[in-house]
Amino acid sequence: MANFDSINTVNIKLEEALAVAIKSEENRDFSPTIKGITVGLSSGTSGNRGVFLASEKERAYWVALVLDRVLGFSLKKRSIAFFLRANSNLYDSVKSKLLAFHFFDLLNSIDFHIKRLNTLQPSILVAQPSMLLELANAIEANKLVINPIKIISVAEVLTQEDKVYLTNVFKQTIHQAYQCTEGFLASTCEYGTLHFNEDFLIIEKKYIDKEQSRFHPIITDLRRRSQPIIRYELNDIIQEKASCLCGSKLMGIEAIEGRSDDILIFRNIENQEVKIFPDFFRRAIILSDNTINDYALIQTEPHRLILYTKSENQESFQMACEAIQELLNKNNIFKVEISQTNHNHTLKGQKLRRIKNDVRKTN
Ligand SMILES: [Zn+2]
Repeated sequence: MANFDSINTVNIKLEEALAVAIKSEENRDFSPTIKGITVGLSSGTSGNRGVFLASEKERAYWVALVLDRVLGFSLKKRSIAFFLRANSNLYDSVKSKLLAFHFFDLLNSIDFHIKRLNTLQPSILVAQPSMLLELANAIEANKLVINPIKIISVAEVLTQEDKVYLTNVFKQTIHQAYQCTEGFLASTCEYGTLHFNEDFLIIEKKYIDKEQSRFHPIITDLRRRSQPIIRYELNDIIQEKASCLCGSKLMGIEAIEGRSDDILIFRNIENQEVKIFPDFFRRAIILSDNTINDYALIQTEPHRLILYTKSENQESFQMACEAIQELLNKNNIFKVEISQTNHNHTLKGQKLRRIKNDVRKTN
């Protein structure tokens, strides 16, 4: 991001791109582009915010990829329920006569989503694991009755235990798409194994353990032009899968570690339980001050949070606190205490969890 202006080939300045992307998130109007180039915001794997650019041609290619690898082509008319924190005209471009695309804004309540899903009866459901778990709970409670033919988990790490639970409730394979600012990296085969898209990506492995079982992928995207991705190292910890029953030559992924987050749970002013997805906290913190380059937020009690921020700016902690309180207040949650820590506890454990719910363990 520091070299964004010189790296991109479409003469777009980072400042300009950020302004457009942030404004479209705030107004929840996701149509603006710059010179026909789609601009999107992503928190990126390093936790700091990133901007991605996609030209019309790259967008068309992305659509083809999503159709081919994620949704699967079909001449049947299908409706897709897509849960996102922010829509993007990138996603909107998947729309066609055969595909009806329905954006589910994560800012809305779970009850609202359930009502809408019951009416819509989507043929394809796309959501992050934490939302899929919520929906699975609703199915078990007989509040939600849907029969999607395909379920795709995105944005967060799908843990093995969640995968098993979701597979049982939805009675089908849970598919995954591994995508970030740096590109569309991997998608699942018919056996539910993630395979890197090595037909247009070069994946180099930087091993991080002696046993050479875990690595950071260094990616080169052979397709991207407006924002070239060349030998870019991700912080994600990948466990390689030796082989897959599907017989694909594309490298399989056993697990993605280190991007696991938790949902934080609070009580609102009416004493109702409110669950807030980690992504909202992540965004609140990183958007509060762009000098923050590392952070952690741990919920220790229902009304107590511990916040760690690393930055060169003395005011960063205060700015992040205010952004978090604003997010909580928007959800009618008040009187949450945020205390500062100078140590990033999340780095101690094996898993890097920047947003962490520690409440359940103490209960
Ligand atoms: Zn496979």
